[in-house]
Amino acid sequence: MLILNDVAVRYGRFEALRGVDWSVGTGQSTVTALLGPSGCGKSTLLRAIAGFEPLAAGTVSWDGEDLSGRPPHRRDFGVVFQDGQLFPGRTVAQNIAYGLARRGVRGAAAAERVATMLDLVQLGGFEDRPVGALSGGQAQRVALARALAPEPRLLLLDEPLAAIDSQLRESLAESIGTIVRAAGTPTVLVTHDHREAALMADTVSVMRAGRIVQTDSAERLWRRPADEETARFLGARAVVAGVVRSGVLITELGETDLRGRVGFDDLADGDCTVALRPEAVIVEPDPASPAVVEHAAALVAGRRARVRVGGDVFEGVSSVPISVGDHVRLGLAPGALAVVGR
Ligand code: ADP
Repeated sequence: MLILNDVAVRYGRFEALRGVDWSVGTGQSTVTALLGPSGCGKSTLLRAIAGFEPLAAGTVSWDGEDLSGRPPHRRDFGVVFQDGQLFPGRTVAQNIAYGLARRGVRGAAAAERVATMLDLVQLGGFEDRPVGALSGGQAQRVALARALAPEPRLLLLDEPLAAIDSQLRESLAESIGTIVRAAGTPTVLVTHDHREAALMADTVSVMRAGRIVQTDSAERLWRRPADEETARFLGARAVVAGVVRSGVLITELGETDLRGRVGFDDLADGDCTVALRPEAVIVEPDPASPAVVEHAAALVAGRRARVRVGGDVFEGVSSVPISVGDHVRLGLAPGALAVVGR
Protein backbone atom coordinates (compact mmCIF):
# COMPACT_ATOMS: atom_id res chain seq x y z
CA MET A 1 0.00 0.00 0.00
CA LEU A 2 1.03 3.59 -0.68
CA ILE A 3 1.85 5.88 2.24
CA LEU A 4 2.74 9.56 2.02
CA ASN A 5 4.29 11.12 5.05
CA ASP A 6 4.55 14.91 5.47
CA VAL A 7 5.14 15.42 1.74
CA ALA A 8 6.06 18.87 0.37
CA VAL A 9 6.75 19.92 -3.22
CA ARG A 10 8.04 23.38 -4.18
CA TYR A 11 8.24 25.20 -7.49
CA GLY A 12 10.92 27.79 -6.73
CA ARG A 13 9.63 29.54 -3.61
CA PHE A 14 6.01 28.48 -4.17
CA GLU A 15 4.94 25.58 -1.96
CA ALA A 16 2.55 23.55 -4.15
CA LEU A 17 2.16 20.78 -1.55
CA ARG A 18 2.79 20.87 2.16
CA GLY A 19 2.33 18.51 5.06
CA VAL A 20 0.54 15.86 2.99
CA ASP A 21 -0.10 12.67 4.97
CA TRP A 22 -2.08 10.18 2.94
CA SER A 23 -2.54 6.48 2.28
CA VAL A 24 -4.07 4.53 -0.61
CA GLY A 25 -4.85 0.87 -1.14
CA THR A 26 -5.94 0.07 2.38
CA GLY A 27 -9.02 -1.98 3.31
CA GLN A 28 -11.86 -2.33 0.86
CA SER A 29 -11.28 0.87 -1.08
CA THR A 30 -10.05 0.25 -4.63
CA VAL A 31 -10.54 3.71 -6.11
CA THR A 32 -9.55 6.83 -4.20
CA ALA A 33 -10.43 10.18 -5.74
CA LEU A 34 -8.27 13.23 -5.21
CA LEU A 35 -10.85 15.99 -5.51
CA GLY A 36 -10.27 19.73 -5.45
CA PRO A 37 -10.50 22.97 -7.40
CA SER A 38 -8.15 23.72 -10.27
CA GLY A 39 -4.67 24.70 -9.06
CA CYS A 40 -4.93 23.11 -5.58
CA GLY A 41 -2.08 20.67 -6.27
CA LYS A 42 -3.80 17.44 -7.40
CA SER A 43 -1.61 16.83 -10.45
CA THR A 44 1.49 17.80 -8.50
CA LEU A 45 0.62 15.16 -5.89
CA LEU A 46 0.01 12.55 -8.59
CA ARG A 47 3.32 13.39 -10.26
CA ALA A 48 5.11 13.24 -6.90
CA ILE A 49 3.67 9.74 -6.32
CA ALA A 50 4.66 8.66 -9.85
CA GLY A 51 8.19 9.97 -9.29
CA PHE A 52 8.12 12.84 -11.81
CA GLU A 53 8.33 15.56 -9.14
CA PRO A 54 11.14 15.69 -6.56
CA LEU A 55 10.01 16.04 -2.92
CA ALA A 56 11.14 19.09 -0.95
CA ALA A 57 10.28 17.18 2.25
CA GLY A 58 8.67 13.96 3.42
CA THR A 59 8.49 10.46 1.98
CA VAL A 60 6.46 8.40 -0.48
CA SER A 61 6.63 4.70 0.32
CA TRP A 62 5.10 1.44 -0.90
CA ASP A 63 4.70 -1.45 1.54
CA GLY A 64 7.28 0.15 3.80
CA GLU A 65 9.87 0.83 1.07
CA ASP A 66 10.89 4.48 0.61
CA LEU A 67 10.57 5.16 -3.15
CA SER A 68 12.81 8.24 -3.28
CA GLY A 69 15.61 6.30 -5.01
CA ARG A 70 13.30 4.75 -7.62
CA PRO A 71 12.79 6.52 -10.96
CA PRO A 72 9.21 6.56 -12.37
CA HIS A 73 9.64 3.53 -14.67
CA ARG A 74 10.84 1.37 -11.78
CA ARG A 75 7.91 2.10 -9.43
CA ASP A 76 5.49 -0.39 -11.04
CA PHE A 77 2.80 2.29 -11.25
CA GLY A 78 0.56 2.76 -14.29
CA VAL A 79 -0.33 6.30 -15.32
CA VAL A 80 -3.11 7.67 -17.57
CA PHE A 81 -3.14 11.38 -18.34
CA GLN A 82 -6.03 13.62 -19.48
CA ASP A 83 -5.78 12.86 -23.16
CA GLY A 84 -4.33 9.36 -22.86
CA GLN A 85 -1.22 10.23 -24.86
CA LEU A 86 -1.32 7.14 -27.07
CA PHE A 87 1.54 6.72 -29.51
CA PRO A 88 0.24 8.05 -32.83
CA GLY A 89 0.86 6.09 -36.02
CA ARG A 90 0.73 2.77 -34.16
CA THR A 91 -2.06 0.29 -33.78
CA VAL A 92 -4.11 -0.31 -30.66
CA ALA A 93 -2.24 -3.59 -30.04
CA GLN A 94 1.18 -1.94 -30.43
CA ASN A 95 0.18 0.69 -27.92
CA ILE A 96 -1.03 -1.81 -25.34
CA ALA A 97 2.01 -4.07 -25.84
CA TYR A 98 4.43 -1.19 -25.23
CA GLY A 99 4.81 -1.75 -21.49
CA LEU A 100 4.86 -5.51 -21.94
CA ALA A 101 7.96 -5.53 -24.17
CA ARG A 102 9.84 -3.59 -21.51
CA ARG A 103 9.07 -6.43 -19.11
CA GLY A 104 10.19 -9.11 -21.54
CA VAL A 105 6.64 -10.23 -22.46
CA ARG A 106 6.66 -10.69 -26.24
CA GLY A 107 5.20 -12.73 -29.09
CA ALA A 108 2.21 -14.98 -28.37
CA ALA A 109 2.21 -14.16 -24.64
CA ALA A 110 2.02 -10.43 -25.43
CA ALA A 111 -0.74 -10.96 -28.01
CA GLU A 112 -2.76 -12.93 -25.48
CA ARG A 113 -2.34 -10.26 -22.82
CA VAL A 114 -3.35 -7.54 -25.32
CA ALA A 115 -6.52 -9.49 -26.19
CA THR A 116 -7.35 -9.95 -22.50
CA MET A 117 -6.89 -6.24 -21.85
CA LEU A 118 -9.07 -5.31 -24.84
CA ASP A 119 -11.83 -7.58 -23.53
CA LEU A 120 -11.51 -5.91 -20.13
CA VAL A 121 -12.05 -2.44 -21.63
CA GLN A 122 -14.80 -3.77 -23.95
CA LEU A 123 -12.86 -3.21 -27.16
CA GLY A 124 -12.36 -6.86 -28.13
CA GLY A 125 -11.12 -7.18 -31.73
CA PHE A 126 -9.73 -3.64 -31.93
CA GLU A 127 -6.08 -4.86 -32.10
CA ASP A 128 -5.26 -3.68 -35.62
CA ARG A 129 -7.04 -0.34 -35.61
CA PRO A 130 -4.81 2.72 -35.92
CA VAL A 131 -5.21 4.79 -32.75
CA GLY A 132 -6.00 7.87 -34.86
CA ALA A 133 -9.29 6.22 -35.85
CA LEU A 134 -10.57 5.89 -32.27
CA SER A 135 -13.18 8.11 -30.61
CA GLY A 136 -12.13 10.01 -27.47
CA GLY A 137 -13.78 7.48 -25.18
CA GLN A 138 -12.24 4.52 -27.02
CA ALA A 139 -8.80 6.15 -26.90
CA GLN A 140 -9.07 6.60 -23.12
CA ARG A 141 -10.05 2.96 -22.69
CA VAL A 142 -7.02 1.92 -24.79
CA ALA A 143 -4.83 4.16 -22.60
CA LEU A 144 -6.31 2.42 -19.56
CA ALA A 145 -5.63 -1.01 -21.11
CA ARG A 146 -2.04 0.04 -21.86
CA ALA A 147 -1.52 1.21 -18.26
CA LEU A 148 -3.06 -1.98 -16.79
CA ALA A 149 -1.36 -4.48 -19.16
CA PRO A 150 1.91 -4.80 -17.17
CA GLU A 151 -0.15 -5.40 -13.99
CA PRO A 152 0.96 -2.30 -12.10
CA ARG A 153 0.62 -2.35 -8.31
CA LEU A 154 -1.00 1.12 -8.42
CA LEU A 155 -2.87 2.99 -11.14
CA LEU A 156 -2.75 6.80 -11.33
CA LEU A 157 -5.45 8.54 -13.41
CA ASP A 158 -5.08 12.29 -13.99
CA GLU A 159 -8.47 13.73 -15.05
CA PRO A 160 -9.03 10.84 -17.51
CA LEU A 161 -12.40 12.24 -18.64
CA ALA A 162 -11.32 15.85 -19.19
CA ALA A 163 -11.23 15.58 -22.98
CA ILE A 164 -14.46 13.54 -23.29
CA ASP A 165 -17.81 14.97 -24.46
CA SER A 166 -20.14 15.61 -21.55
CA GLN A 167 -22.78 13.09 -22.76
CA LEU A 168 -20.23 10.28 -22.72
CA ARG A 169 -18.47 11.27 -19.53
CA GLU A 170 -20.83 9.59 -17.12
CA SER A 171 -20.85 6.22 -18.88
CA LEU A 172 -17.06 6.26 -19.29
CA ALA A 173 -16.69 7.19 -15.59
CA GLU A 174 -18.79 4.16 -14.68
CA SER A 175 -16.93 1.84 -17.03
CA ILE A 176 -13.49 2.97 -15.81
CA GLY A 177 -14.63 2.31 -12.22
CA THR A 178 -15.87 -1.15 -13.22
CA ILE A 179 -12.67 -1.96 -15.16
CA VAL A 180 -10.21 -1.07 -12.39
CA ARG A 181 -12.31 -2.97 -9.84
CA ALA A 182 -12.33 -6.01 -12.15
CA ALA A 183 -8.54 -5.69 -12.43
CA GLY A 184 -8.35 -5.25 -8.63
CA THR A 185 -5.72 -2.53 -8.99
CA PRO A 186 -5.62 0.19 -6.31
CA THR A 187 -6.30 3.43 -8.17
CA VAL A 188 -5.88 7.14 -7.54
CA LEU A 189 -8.20 9.32 -9.61
CA VAL A 190 -7.54 13.05 -9.92
CA THR A 191 -10.66 15.10 -10.64
CA HIS A 192 -12.11 18.56 -9.98
CA ASP A 193 -15.67 17.21 -10.46
CA HIS A 194 -17.42 15.85 -7.36
CA ARG A 195 -19.94 13.93 -9.51
CA GLU A 196 -17.11 12.11 -11.23
CA ALA A 197 -15.49 11.37 -7.87
CA ALA A 198 -18.75 9.90 -6.55
CA LEU A 199 -19.37 7.87 -9.72
CA MET A 200 -15.93 6.25 -9.70
CA ALA A 201 -14.44 6.25 -6.22
CA ASP A 202 -14.98 4.38 -2.94
CA THR A 203 -13.05 7.00 -0.99
CA VAL A 204 -12.74 10.71 -1.69
CA SER A 205 -9.90 12.92 -0.46
CA VAL A 206 -10.56 16.64 -0.76
CA MET A 207 -7.59 18.92 -1.46
CA ARG A 208 -7.26 22.64 -1.07
CA ALA A 209 -4.22 24.92 -1.41
CA GLY A 210 -1.65 22.14 -1.35
CA ARG A 211 -3.17 20.17 1.53
CA ILE A 212 -5.57 17.28 2.01
CA VAL A 213 -8.44 18.56 4.15
CA GLN A 214 -10.72 15.51 4.39
CA THR A 215 -10.83 11.81 3.45
CA ASP A 216 -14.21 10.04 3.58
CA SER A 217 -16.75 8.08 1.56
CA ALA A 218 -18.64 10.30 -0.90
CA GLU A 219 -21.81 9.89 1.13
CA ARG A 220 -20.17 10.94 4.38
CA LEU A 221 -18.43 13.85 2.60
CA TRP A 222 -21.73 15.28 1.30
CA ARG A 223 -23.28 15.22 4.79
CA ARG A 224 -20.32 16.06 7.01
CA PRO A 225 -17.84 18.29 5.11
CA ALA A 226 -14.82 19.23 7.23
CA ASP A 227 -15.25 22.98 6.85
CA GLU A 228 -17.35 25.66 5.16
CA GLU A 229 -15.04 26.00 2.16
CA THR A 230 -15.32 22.27 1.47
CA ALA A 231 -19.12 22.48 1.78
CA ARG A 232 -19.19 25.37 -0.73
CA PHE A 233 -16.87 23.49 -3.11
CA LEU A 234 -19.38 20.60 -2.96
CA GLY A 235 -22.25 22.88 -3.96
CA ALA A 236 -23.53 24.57 -0.80
CA ARG A 237 -24.80 28.08 -1.54
CA ALA A 238 -25.69 29.24 1.95
CA VAL A 239 -24.57 28.58 5.48
CA VAL A 240 -26.75 29.10 8.57
CA ALA A 241 -26.32 28.55 12.29
CA GLY A 242 -28.14 25.57 13.75
CA VAL A 243 -28.58 23.69 16.96
CA VAL A 244 -29.09 19.93 17.44
CA ARG A 245 -31.40 18.85 20.27
CA SER A 246 -32.06 15.13 20.76
CA GLY A 247 -31.13 14.51 17.12
CA VAL A 248 -33.42 17.23 15.72
CA LEU A 249 -31.73 20.03 13.80
CA ILE A 250 -33.21 23.49 14.35
CA THR A 251 -32.40 26.44 12.07
CA GLU A 252 -33.97 29.74 11.04
CA LEU A 253 -35.48 27.92 8.02
CA GLY A 254 -37.21 25.33 10.17
CA GLU A 255 -36.34 22.05 11.79
CA THR A 256 -35.74 18.50 10.62
CA ASP A 257 -35.21 15.19 12.36
CA LEU A 258 -31.77 13.76 11.54
CA ARG A 259 -32.13 10.61 13.63
CA GLY A 260 -31.54 7.45 11.60
CA ARG A 261 -30.25 9.42 8.60
CA VAL A 262 -27.04 8.15 6.99
CA GLY A 263 -24.07 10.27 7.99
CA PHE A 264 -25.70 11.85 11.02
CA ASP A 265 -25.80 8.87 13.39
CA ASP A 266 -22.86 10.18 15.43
CA LEU A 267 -24.01 13.80 15.56
CA ALA A 268 -23.95 15.09 19.13
CA ASP A 269 -26.35 17.70 20.50
CA GLY A 270 -25.18 21.33 20.51
CA ASP A 271 -24.54 24.29 18.23
CA CYS A 272 -23.51 23.64 14.63
CA THR A 273 -23.08 25.18 11.20
CA VAL A 274 -25.45 23.97 8.48
CA ALA A 275 -24.51 24.14 4.79
CA LEU A 276 -27.37 24.21 2.28
CA ARG A 277 -27.25 23.08 -1.32
CA PRO A 278 -30.21 24.50 -3.29
CA GLU A 279 -32.05 21.16 -3.01
CA ALA A 280 -32.02 21.57 0.80
CA VAL A 281 -34.13 24.74 0.64
CA ILE A 282 -37.79 24.42 -0.32
CA VAL A 283 -39.42 27.56 -1.74
CA GLU A 284 -43.23 27.93 -1.49
CA PRO A 285 -45.45 30.85 -2.50
CA ASP A 286 -46.66 32.87 0.53
CA PRO A 287 -47.95 36.40 -0.09
CA ALA A 288 -47.67 37.18 3.63
CA SER A 289 -43.94 36.39 3.80
CA PRO A 290 -41.33 39.17 3.59
CA ALA A 291 -38.95 36.93 1.56
CA VAL A 292 -38.82 37.88 -2.13
CA VAL A 293 -37.69 35.96 -5.25
CA GLU A 294 -34.72 37.76 -6.90
CA HIS A 295 -34.07 35.30 -9.70
CA ALA A 296 -35.98 32.30 -11.04
CA ALA A 297 -35.00 29.65 -13.58
CA ALA A 298 -36.33 26.34 -14.87
CA LEU A 299 -33.45 23.86 -14.84
CA VAL A 300 -33.53 20.23 -15.96
CA ALA A 301 -33.41 19.18 -12.30
CA GLY A 302 -36.32 21.45 -11.33
CA ARG A 303 -37.26 25.06 -10.70
CA ARG A 304 -34.63 27.12 -8.94
CA ALA A 305 -35.08 30.41 -7.13
CA ARG A 306 -32.76 32.90 -5.47
CA VAL A 307 -34.56 34.42 -2.53
CA ARG A 308 -33.69 37.46 -0.41
CA VAL A 309 -34.68 37.38 3.25
CA GLY A 310 -33.59 40.65 4.85
CA GLY A 311 -29.80 40.71 4.39
CA ASP A 312 -29.50 37.00 3.53
CA VAL A 313 -29.77 35.26 0.16
CA PHE A 314 -30.75 31.60 -0.31
CA GLU A 315 -30.86 29.37 -3.37
CA GLY A 316 -33.78 26.96 -3.26
CA VAL A 317 -36.07 24.71 -5.30
CA SER A 318 -39.77 25.07 -5.98
CA SER A 319 -42.33 22.53 -7.13
CA VAL A 320 -44.62 25.20 -8.61
CA PRO A 321 -43.83 27.97 -11.13
CA ILE A 322 -42.53 31.13 -9.46
CA SER A 323 -41.42 34.49 -10.78
CA VAL A 324 -39.13 37.33 -9.79
CA GLY A 325 -40.88 39.53 -7.21
CA ASP A 326 -43.06 36.72 -5.77
CA HIS A 327 -43.26 36.51 -1.99
CA VAL A 328 -42.30 33.08 -0.71
CA ARG A 329 -41.49 31.20 2.46
CA LEU A 330 -38.53 28.87 2.89
CA GLY A 331 -38.41 25.39 4.39
CA LEU A 332 -35.81 22.73 4.97
CA ALA A 333 -35.45 19.44 3.07
CA PRO A 334 -33.10 17.10 4.94
CA GLY A 335 -31.72 15.24 1.88
CA ALA A 336 -29.26 17.88 0.69
CA LEU A 337 -28.18 19.59 3.88
CA ALA A 338 -24.79 19.13 5.50
CA VAL A 339 -23.54 19.69 9.02
CA VAL A 340 -20.11 21.28 8.83
CA GLY A 341 -17.03 20.35 10.77
CA ARG A 342 -18.34 18.09 13.52
P1 ADP B 1 -4.31 20.96 -10.02
O1 ADP B 1 -3.86 19.65 -10.60
O2 ADP B 1 -5.05 20.79 -8.73
O3 ADP B 1 -5.05 21.82 -10.98
P2 ADP B 1 -1.47 21.56 -10.07
O4 ADP B 1 -0.86 20.47 -9.26
O5 ADP B 1 -1.38 21.44 -11.55
O6 ADP B 1 -2.98 21.78 -9.60
O7 ADP B 1 -0.81 22.94 -9.65
C1 ADP B 1 -0.72 23.37 -8.29
C2 ADP B 1 -0.07 24.73 -8.23
O8 ADP B 1 1.30 24.62 -8.62
C3 ADP B 1 -0.70 25.75 -9.16
O9 ADP B 1 -0.67 27.01 -8.52
C4 ADP B 1 0.21 25.73 -10.36
O10 ADP B 1 0.20 26.99 -11.01
C5 ADP B 1 1.55 25.45 -9.75
N1 ADP B 1 2.45 24.70 -10.65
C6 ADP B 1 2.18 23.48 -11.21
N2 ADP B 1 3.22 23.07 -11.96
C7 ADP B 1 4.17 24.03 -11.89
C8 ADP B 1 5.49 24.20 -12.43
N3 ADP B 1 6.04 23.26 -13.21
N4 ADP B 1 6.14 25.34 -12.12
C9 ADP B 1 5.60 26.28 -11.32
N5 ADP B 1 4.38 26.19 -10.76
C10 ADP B 1 3.67 25.09 -11.04
